[in-house]
Amino acid sequence: MPVNVTFLSLHGDPLAPLGGSHHGGQNVYVKELSSHLADLGFELDVYSRWESPDQPLTAPITEGARVIRIKVGPPKPIQKEETLSLLPNVARWLSGFWKEHQFNYDLIHSHYYFSGAVAIYLKDTWGIPSCQTFHSLGAVKQKALGSKDPSPKQRLKIERRICHSMDRIIATTPQEKSDLRNLYETNPEKVKVIPAGVNLELFRPLPQDESKLEIGFSPRDFLVTFVGRLEERKGIDTLLEAIHIVNNDKIQVVIVGGPPTKKDFLSWSELGEKPYREYQRLLEKFDLVGQVTFTGGKPQHMLSRYYSAADVTIIPSYYEPFGLTAVEALACGSSLIASSVGGLQTIVKQDHVGLQFEPRNPDDLADQIQRLMSYPPLNEKFRKNARPYVEEKYSWSAVTEQVAEVYRKVLSE
Ligand code: UDP
Repeated sequence: MPVNVTFLSLHGDPLAPLGGSHHGGQNVYVKELSSHLADLGFELDVYSRWESPDQPLTAPITEGARVIRIKVGPPKPIQKEETLSLLPNVARWLSGFWKEHQFNYDLIHSHYYFSGAVAIYLKDTWGIPSCQTFHSLGAVKQKALGSKDPSPKQRLKIERRICHSMDRIIATTPQEKSDLRNLYETNPEKVKVIPAGVNLELFRPLPQDESKLEIGFSPRDFLVTFVGRLEERKGIDTLLEAIHIVNNDKIQVVIVGGPPTKKDFLSWSELGEKPYREYQRLLEKFDLVGQVTFTGGKPQHMLSRYYSAADVTIIPSYYEPFGLTAVEALACGSSLIASSVGGLQTIVKQDHVGLQFEPRNPDDLADQIQRLMSYPPLNEKFRKNARPYVEEKYSWSAVTEQVAEVYRKVLSE
């Protein structure tokens, strides 16, 4: 008999288009992990809240894994924080749906604290073992963002409760495990550190010069790639200021992210619109017009070109629980410069695949860029190490095996 697992990922539909402000790492994690678990023989139902009235109730992710849309709240993307008030109705909707369809799950794996809160209710009502992956911790985010953190006050209390109620917690970094212990007094014995992975088929090294030409740059440019959602906490302001400090015309920067678009580049007038307006102002302030290109959001299958073309991929986040773009860039053979926060501290192995800098410090970032540019053999070494390093540590099949092992243990208890 296959093990039936329910994933709760209320605001992380695995089939949503990526790049905009709502959909990023969690959607990718849930899609990859559910698909790979299905390959191992688990049966997966992934529950996400509907975001359009036209979405089908169920849609296949792969054989053995499907998404089911929870019809609660408005059928459109909403601000994450608004989800909190919907949780009691979500829990009721799920219970009713399971009863109506006579679904009997063996295990719940919830993602992010909203889903964790619902999982606590369902696990007790239905008597099902439970696992939680947080994807982000309120207490850490609050420290990093201060008054700019939009999370509701109740978040920390809910997260603490999840830590004390769930059977297992999957932390994606050793740092997260110690945060769970220090901030929420979580029993370390129930926390297992398992990183997120990277799809090594989708993210592959392509010839660099050809990739540069294909995305509109010259092989002579020193190309800096950034990929991610255009949120303030991603630190694009730090990146732009650092490029201004380095003051080298050879550098071109390509920024991939924002609402999905088929265009290659956004025009100057498009940069005057949300969510780019603030960056347009910074381009003028730092005298970078003509040196920085925005492409809008791109589907994952197009990203290998941008990472492979890069002379370096830069991840300047103020806060980054894991950092999937780091492992994706490495899988494409790019070196990295990243801020020393969250998962990036572990992934970006200093002086092996890249360099770290102090978050929010453009002078430090500028120094690291200069270091890499002034000594090409260093960058060559990082580029050579990148792919073997992620193949060894971050393949989804190895990651999924470890998650499956956690499930087997929880089910046997
Ligand atoms: N991404 C994408 N297209 C874009 C921008 C981002 O597909 O235009 C994907 C990217 O490949 C990565 C995810 O969105 O898998 C972002 O995950 P990450 O962990 O870096 O950040 P998060 O979104 O969780 O803050």
